[in-house]
Amino acid sequence: MAAAPTCSDQPRDLPINEFTDHEELRDELARIERVSEGRVEVEVAGRSNQGREIWTARVGEGDKVVLLTSEIHGNEKVGTEAVLDLLDWVGTSDTRKARQWRSELTIVAVPKMNPDAAELDRRGNDMTWDQVTARFPQLRGSEPAWNYYTREIQGDDYASRPGFDVNRDYNPDLSYFPQPEDFPGSSAETGWFITPEAQTVRDLYRGLQAEFGEVDTYVDLHHQGACYVMPDDPDEFVTMSISGKFIDDPASDPELEEYADTYDLEYSKQLNVAAWNALQGKANQRPVFGNITLYPQDTNLPGTALGAFGLNGSGTVLFEIRGQTQTLGQQYRAVLTRTAYIGLDGILSSVASGRVEQLDPAVYDAIPERGPSIGSAEEADEDARVLRQAARERTASAG
Ligand SMILES: [Zn+2]
Repeated sequence: MAAAPTCSDQPRDLPINEFTDHEELRDELARIERVSEGRVEVEVAGRSNQGREIWTARVGEGDKVVLLTSEIHGNEKVGTEAVLDLLDWVGTSDTRKARQWRSELTIVAVPKMNPDAAELDRRGNDMTWDQVTARFPQLRGSEPAWNYYTREIQGDDYASRPGFDVNRDYNPDLSYFPQPEDFPGSSAETGWFITPEAQTVRDLYRGLQAEFGEVDTYVDLHHQGACYVMPDDPDEFVTMSISGKFIDDPASDPELEEYADTYDLEYSKQLNVAAWNALQGKANQRPVFGNITLYPQDTNLPGTALGAFGLNGSGTVLFEIRGQTQTLGQQYRAVLTRTAYIGLDGILSSVASGRVEQLDPAVYDAIPERGPSIGSAEEADEDARVLRQAARERTASAG
């Protein structure tokens, strides 16, 4: 009988050199643009707080827009690899499928949208509260945002180099301007667009809304703790968790009820089902492709990119790939990249063909929930910690 697997979420130094860094991304995007013979267009959409380019790559002439972002958390790197593989394929392939994608879809990718965090190989960006108040003087007397890191998190020292969790800096009001009374805020509340990285993606999203009317689909690529196991098999790690639900119920929330009509949870569920079906279809090739669960659904995250854009009417999909770099390094990079790729392929194929409209949202509700973490230090999973804290805040405010 095989011994039960062991796993640790304790942060440690591990090699990551096989991942594409910022400099290599510049070269790789230029190469893809070149070999695609102009089908893939690469632009600088904005600059990070430290002045690094935030690139977009756009391909296709269709009227359904699919926005993909990766590495908003800089220690969550596999998504960038999968997006590059996808751009390479859709930009160069002459298959019927690729031609259908290019005629039906406009794919806009922002690989490595938080390059300062990516270069530091950490979750938060590289920005101080003083820099925020210099740009927004009305915040000078306010308490810093709750997602401002000045302590050690996931083994990274923010005391000497502070930063923000950019994925709590979004607001469904895309023209929101920071107001002192909205600070310090909390995980269950909206963010502020105080970071240049979130501002860049916000501006891109608004531009696409102006050009196309709406952004049909938005996929954000993350990683979760390394040690979650399947609910029915503690010997099998969860390869990826997915979700389309980040907002509890906008209609019952006075702050969000104005978005109740545009919010389309059913469509988000159909998009997730497309990813789920594609991955289950590959499980006979490699069983780990089938180890997919739902990400926790008891959340309300209007300050995340997915929450904010979902409220604006986009169908949304979260990928939470196994293991951040401080626990897995580049281990399993190839198979995890393939997992994310298969999921993205399932989503884009079903949107391009229109089959997504026929998918049953009830299949989403039947996707198994994530099993427990067998890690030795689950506190190292910052998302899990914030979710537990948010759940406590909600219980406290409900009670
Ligand atoms: Zn993340």
